[in-house]
Amino acid sequence: MNAEQLLRVYGMLLEAFGEQDWWPAQSAFEVMIGAILTQNTAWTNVERALERLRLRSSLDAESILALDPPELADALRPSGYFNVKSQRVRGFCAAYLEAGGHPGLAALATPDLRARLLAIKGIGPETADDILLYAFDRPVFVVDAYTRRIFERLGLLAGGETYEVIRRGFEQALGPDVPMLKEYHALIVSQGKEVCRTRPACERCALRRTCAAAAPSPSDSSTSSRSSHRRRRGTTASEETQ
Ligand code: SF4
Repeated sequence: MNAEQLLRVYGMLLEAFGEQDWWPAQSAFEVMIGAILTQNTAWTNVERALERLRLRSSLDAESILALDPPELADALRPSGYFNVKSQRVRGFCAAYLEAGGHPGLAALATPDLRARLLAIKGIGPETADDILLYAFDRPVFVVDAYTRRIFERLGLLAGGETYEVIRRGFEQALGPDVPMLKEYHALIVSQGKEVCRTRPACERCALRRTCAAAAPSPSDSSTSSRSSHRRRRGTTASEETQ
């Protein structure tokens, strides 16, 4: 996995989906709360939970902590696992205020800020990196299940790599280009949700010509195209971009 390969995939996804303009939020704090709520659920459910939370609070740490815990849990109900998530949100708000809020956290170097976020109960690497990238504009790459699925199918990940190995691989190859890192993760989410699903829609995939796992298209039905397809399937994205 090198810069040329990753930039090629990025260019194809950008052309297919257009700019995604992530993260959809009205403030950096809302990004942080959204990153916690989006664990194990679809973003539409998070939006409904945030709307309900907005009706009960001004969506800042103090007013969220001022809510009765059952009221907070009820507001977060659409996001699923709402009792667990309400505890996580409360824990995050308390840690956020203890750290001096956004200015206090923003003053930390990226490794320190990451360690600080990971020390909060319920915040794992993906959530921490969502917050680092989209709330604090830090040059990190967010690795999610879509990233693993797509890049394994492309032949650019072997499978079984740790979160940190994948994150560092992308960051070293792409460099500290924050707008691009934001856009790349958003494009991967679109690709994973809309095209490279559990059952992939290869026939309408922009990455098809470079994908090691692409399914045959109807036009591959002739003998010559079948043999051509076999050759292509045996060629990984990694080899084609070298
Ligand atoms: S060609 Fe198919 S398997 Fe490959 S990335 Fe596209 S949808 Fe996924």
